[in-house]
Amino acid sequence: MPVLVMKFGGTSVATLDRIKRAAKRVGVEVAKGYDVIVIVSAMSGKTNELVGWVNETSPLFDAREYDAVVSSGENVTAGLMSLTLQEMDVPARSWQGWQVPLKTTSAHASARIEEIPTDNINAKFAEGMRVAVVAGFQGISPEGRITTLGRGGSDTTAVAFAAAFGAERCDIYTDVDGVYTTDPRISSKARKLDKIAFEEMLELASLGAKVLQTRSVELAMRYKVKLRVLSSFEEQSDEAGTLVCDEEEIMESNVVAGVAYSRDEAKMTLLSVADRPGIAAAIFGPLSEAGVNVDMIVQNISEEGRTDMTFSCPVDQVKRAEKAMEDAQTSGEINYQQLVADTDVAKVSVVGIGMRSHAGVAAKMFDALSSEGINIKVITTSEIKISVLIDRKYMELAVQALHDAFELEKAA
Ligand code: ADP
Ligand code: ASP
Ligand code: MG
Repeated sequence: MPVLVMKFGGTSVATLDRIKRAAKRVGVEVAKGYDVIVIVSAMSGKTNELVGWVNETSPLFDAREYDAVVSSGENVTAGLMSLTLQEMDVPARSWQGWQVPLKTTSAHASARIEEIPTDNINAKFAEGMRVAVVAGFQGISPEGRITTLGRGGSDTTAVAFAAAFGAERCDIYTDVDGVYTTDPRISSKARKLDKIAFEEMLELASLGAKVLQTRSVELAMRYKVKLRVLSSFEEQSDEAGTLVCDEEEIMESNVVAGVAYSRDEAKMTLLSVADRPGIAAAIFGPLSEAGVNVDMIVQNISEEGRTDMTFSCPVDQVKRAEKAMEDAQTSGEINYQQLVADTDVAKVSVVGIGMRSHAGVAAKMFDALSSEGINIKVITTSEIKISVLIDRKYMELAVQALHDAFELEKAA
């Protein structure tokens, strides 16, 4: 029988009633003749609560134990979803990551999926089970410990299962009815897209649009998974939601496809670092070993052999970054005067494959921000995106100003 993957995010399984509603949707697909793999997230707010407990217990936590704790939310919803389906007389069974077993690397808290054996679940389908409910976000390392795939990781679990089982489609059910030109919670003018190119979705996701985890888009692109984002609260139809697809399948598109933001960024500046060959490696090596995800980097002009080095990272990694730099200073690997952390910044980005062939996007972006009196602290660009770091208090304003400037409320 053809296989369908249906993923339900936190808000879609937030209460027993919502789990029932989701289960009914699954029932509809089963009735159509699909064998369904359901991937569930934890109930909304649960993972945040678990992460909070870990941080409170141990600020520079052992990531193996972090994973042991934060993976547990999905275990609950997987069992409940399976029970709900059984109550509806749909033959269902739940699986935790290790039972599949969904094999990952041992990079705890941000593990990558290495392999999903299908025999275990397929054997059950062959026996008449119609729905496999799998706990999203979690797997097992080569050492036999529980791992998690990074925040939002259930999306990646879903796409990886769709690829492994050759599913006809991977439907991501969430609390918005598709992918928008920007977060509809920030701009009332945001417009739902019927289709978005993989590459654009990949950039939007990696720049903060949390509707899909970046890695899930990467996997869908690589394994040609038909990926759709739709609402678990609205009526279902074959046309519903947004299809993430190849660029060639989209007839018309705007130069800028969307605006993304990432609220919780920090700007770190190492003042007066001794400038010498290898200094960047001496700074960013220890940061990477400490698990700091450095994003933007700017090195200033050097004067009398000393320079300032600025980088950005998620605000919750500032403590790790400070410790890594202090340790590198103590061991003599680097020599700097001071490390200044600006923890009140946000990143705003515009993304569009049309930027490859259109000039003037950067100028228009900077103009729109300056018209609102927003100062730009750091800029980075790539072929299809431009990102700026600004004061966090202007983030919403910047997103709206850019959405207006590029007229994203209008379809191409
Ligand atoms: P889930 O719990 O279902 O995984 P998430 O909260 O992870 O849901 O992702 C959905 C949220 O992503 C939406 O509620 C919305 O606020 C946010 N979002 C950010 N950017 C976009 C965008 N461009 N289009 C749609 N939603 C977006
Ligand atoms: N529950 C996890 C999180 O909140 C994974 C997910 O929902 O995708 O990050
Ligand atoms: Mg999510």
